Amino acid sequence: MSDKKPCFIILGAGMSGILAAIKLRMAGHTNVSIYEKADRIGGTWRDNSYPGLSCDVPAHAYTYEFAPNPDWTGYFAPGPEVQAYFEKVVADFDVMPIINFNSEIVRATWTDRWEIETSDGRIDNADFVIAATGVLHHPKIPDIKGLDSFAGIKFHSARWDHSVPLEGKRIGVIGNGSTGIQMVTELAKRGHDVVHFQRSPQWIMPVVQFAYTEEEKAVFRASREAIDAIRYDPVYIGNVQRFTKGVVDIESPAMKEIEAYCLMNLEQNVHDPVLRERLRPTYRAACKRLIYSPDYYAAAQMPNLLTVTCGIDTILPHGVRDKEGIEHKVDLLVLATGFYSDRFVRPIDVQGRNGATLEAAWKERCNGYYAISIPDFPNFFMLNGPTSPVGNFSLIDIAERQWAYIEQLIARVIDGNAHGIHATHKALADYEARRIKAAKETIFGSGCTSWYLDAQGVPITWPWDYDTFAEKMKAPDFEAFEVV
Ligand code: NAP
Repeated sequence: MSDKKPCFIILGAGMSGILAAIKLRMAGHTNVSIYEKADRIGGTWRDNSYPGLSCDVPAHAYTYEFAPNPDWTGYFAPGPEVQAYFEKVVADFDVMPIINFNSEIVRATWTDRWEIETSDGRIDNADFVIAATGVLHHPKIPDIKGLDSFAGIKFHSARWDHSVPLEGKRIGVIGNGSTGIQMVTELAKRGHDVVHFQRSPQWIMPVVQFAYTEEEKAVFRASREAIDAIRYDPVYIGNVQRFTKGVVDIESPAMKEIEAYCLMNLEQNVHDPVLRERLRPTYRAACKRLIYSPDYYAAAQMPNLLTVTCGIDTILPHGVRDKEGIEHKVDLLVLATGFYSDRFVRPIDVQGRNGATLEAAWKERCNGYYAISIPDFPNFFMLNGPTSPVGNFSLIDIAERQWAYIEQLIARVIDGNAHGIHATHKALADYEARRIKAAKETIFGSGCTSWYLDAQGVPITWPWDYDTFAEKMKAPDFEAFEVV
């Protein structure tokens, strides 16, 4: 490290990048900049704007610990409100001046510092790079016969075209992950004529949504304790803990309880026996990311929402032919078909020490020591990176805990007057051996397809429970790191 003040570059101005910038400045660092390829902050909350977008984590828990929001309108917040929250935080903490918008990083190279290059040839240098590039960022266009022949309008769920009027159109939606379910529910409730193509049914966990009254919001404004009573509500925290214990112990009472709730929801709330059987999954609950919805089953029984579960045979210029030979005319086709979940930092060309490249390091699967540090990539730290906890809880909380760990790595470099720090190859290999063994035994590896699985079919997820994660993030095990 030079005598100069340490310099930090953050990749991405989404939830994690904003967090890193604010935390660094809170710690007194002044040489901090963010590179963002888009022209606005927000990451996934900027990219997604489909009808019905909402956050299925309680709003007061999906909030930075340092920036409580007394104005959340309901227990779960709609997507535009979450985006507005991040924009307000950026304004309140004066983050805007340090963001370089329309600046896509294409290369990052370590010599004894990081040199980064943007797509338009600008070069910058930093001692530390924080990769906050998100998990689900690159839309997956499905390989379905005839897709290119569709003559109507089509777009991916993360590229919703708001200039297209929906009135009078028959809307086809392909995919029933969290996105597809939220979308068809809202479109049906608004009275649109919708055909929903599901390849595999989903388990649906019932939840109750409610609005906060003006009186409640006034209490939140006056009292941090009132907000924390919701953020740290023992029922919510208990649910998170039970969920993550169930995920890693698939025959546990916790997992049986989750399954029983989902089953009860299906049995009690889908009244037509034919539709009920079509919506009944054949894999275990929570194997795919569990869907939380207060009203999907009600929407699925509305006459203007047709659910097709036999699969798609061909997409035609005017619609979709299903595997039973029925042609469904649609004017607009929405691909709610998910994302390439194995990209993470890439396609940025990251070059570390000793000729290491991220592309080569992640040839088999993407990973990092405790999801944060990669051998031979000094001072390159990831937030919500590969093998990080995913699941049905606040990724803000995950990023905040990861930041507490990263801060200690940064301090070790600065205090030790070193150039950098990274996990050792041995540490990552040992970690991965334990993680992969445990991951295969989680519910995510119990026999279904999902974006949680890598190319070898191994869950890319954190395979231990939430409390273990919280404990591990308290302090790095410095023996697992090499200082350079
Ligand atoms: P996803 O969970 O990956 O779902 C993709 C859907 O597309 C699946 O139903 C899949 O079917 C279907 N599909 C993919 N290729 C297909 C093909 N060739 N033919 C037919 N169907 C095809 O994607 P997502 O719904 O966008 O959600 C991704 C993640 O984003 C979620 O799991 C969640 O973590 C996050 N998210 C969170 C919220 C929130 O409220 N917090 C909201 C939205 C999204 P199969 O299941 O058969 O593969």
